[in-house]
Amino acid sequence: MSVNAKVAGLLYEIGEILTIKGDRFRSRAYSMAAQRVTSLTEDISDIMERGELQEIPGIGQSIASTVTEYLETGESSILQELRESLPKGVPEMIELEGIGPKLAMRLHKELGIVSIETLEVAAKQQRIRDLKGFGEKSEKNILKAIEEYRSRTDRFLLGEVLPIISGILSYMRDSKSVRVVEVAGSARRRKETVGDLDVLVSSIDPETVSDYFITMPPVERILAHGPTKSTVVLENKLQVDLRVIPPESYGAALQYFTGSKEHNVKLRTIGVRAGFKLNEYGLFDRETDELIAAEKEEEIYKALGMDWMPPELRENTGEIEDAIKGTLPNLVELKDLKGDLHVHSDWSDGRASIEDMVQKAISMDLEYLTITDHTKTLGIANGLDEIRLREQIAKVRILDEEYPEIKVLTGTECDILGDGTLDLSDEVLREVDWVIASIHSGFRQDSDTITQRLIDAIHNEYVDTIGHPTGRLIQRRQGYNIDLDSILEAAANQDVMMEINCYPDRLDLSDVNSRRAKEYGVMVSLGSDAHIPKEMEFLPLGLSVARRGWLEAKDVANTYDVNELMKIKN
Ligand SMILES: [Zn+2]
Ligand SMILES: [Zn+2]
Repeated sequence: MSVNAKVAGLLYEIGEILTIKGDRFRSRAYSMAAQRVTSLTEDISDIMERGELQEIPGIGQSIASTVTEYLETGESSILQELRESLPKGVPEMIELEGIGPKLAMRLHKELGIVSIETLEVAAKQQRIRDLKGFGEKSEKNILKAIEEYRSRTDRFLLGEVLPIISGILSYMRDSKSVRVVEVAGSARRRKETVGDLDVLVSSIDPETVSDYFITMPPVERILAHGPTKSTVVLENKLQVDLRVIPPESYGAALQYFTGSKEHNVKLRTIGVRAGFKLNEYGLFDRETDELIAAEKEEEIYKALGMDWMPPELRENTGEIEDAIKGTLPNLVELKDLKGDLHVHSDWSDGRASIEDMVQKAISMDLEYLTITDHTKTLGIANGLDEIRLREQIAKVRILDEEYPEIKVLTGTECDILGDGTLDLSDEVLREVDWVIASIHSGFRQDSDTITQRLIDAIHNEYVDTIGHPTGRLIQRRQGYNIDLDSILEAAANQDVMMEINCYPDRLDLSDVNSRRAKEYGVMVSLGSDAHIPKEMEFLPLGLSVARRGWLEAKDVANTYDVNELMKIKN
């Protein structure tokens, strides 16, 4: 976002709040100035440096000094004052479609609305229609606007956030004042969705670091800017907090801000029992206040009598007990993954040739790749029937010879039909190296029917794994109504695997369900479900799920080399 757009945004917001406060004259001045800034053809900061701000029509002395303050400090004291002066709930209400400043103030004054939540209650209790000028329709519109607002403020998918994180980390590492930088919070724990980012920097020069941080390219708005804590909103509306920590207490801050809350509560309780006090500044002796550990996370965990544990485990689901006993799992790592077990090509609904997919796999240093296109019942996906699949098998075998650096395996993502039978005959299924069986229709069947459908597929002797086993789409669709325990039990008996589909909005099995699979002794297979080469980079997302599910290398099919894989599969 350009500096002009940022300044215009600031002036508009000041103008809006002044409207609410009834200061029409100044409000108008600020909105006019904002319009002028938007239409400038050169950077407003250059104009400021020449001392010519007031030569821009509509910018007088006081607006010029607001702009100067903002350009020099990234902050605006007048905006901050104005924001603080608004009644509770009003700034949020203005964010709703169809609610302007005036309306928001009336709702606040006449109905005592202090938040989106109380507004929702008032609309549902039909209290808004009694206000002069409102009716039943306005209540409906408000409820619709709230729903729309909430979907806007949904959490971000881990897959959307990881590339942003690596951008932020490499940007911050370019500053000489940054010693160490990490993103803490749920992103560090690799939760499937992330609310906002907590960037923790270790530095002895906090001011330089935070000035550098707020000028990061994708920053759209600066919400707070101070030496040790700053907050910005990126162009995609993701909020990012920066905390600058002195090196000697960095580990304590990292531990504290990584969470989870439940993990930290448990840790503090254990600390208290042992005579310690644990907070974001360090681990202290409770009586003498003497500092025990703070610089490194490992030292804190060690002083508390337990092993350090990977952030993905920190959910208070048994990891602390295991860390005390020294029995934490040795989690599967990215370098353990040798292949991708689910990709599509332009033979069905993929948008790249098999060669393109193979070359991408080679560039990712994979040892093997299975080509798993859809089957005939999925007409919209141009699914393969027996004849085309046999043609594809021949093609893949030739390609495999052409690329000695990788093993290209034949495969299919075979539809599980409504009655639990498979979309291809056993004769052709036995000819391919890798069979994924997936449900792509009839999601709404009752629990018994759809559970039995999956169990029937598991009983087919050629099925190796069940694709995206629960069918959920994160924040969009609940999974099928299945009895997962019965399915896992059947899978364990039949030696059939369960997939962790790595597509960002699937991550299916989830972390919790992956752990259940392990408890049943069911092996997991990772598949990117890539439809273009770049999507094969989703594999690490599935890996995060596996790690959050406590899986070790031996629990994940992709960690075996191709010969071992062909032996352990069904
Ligand atoms: Zn599928
Ligand atoms: Zn697929």
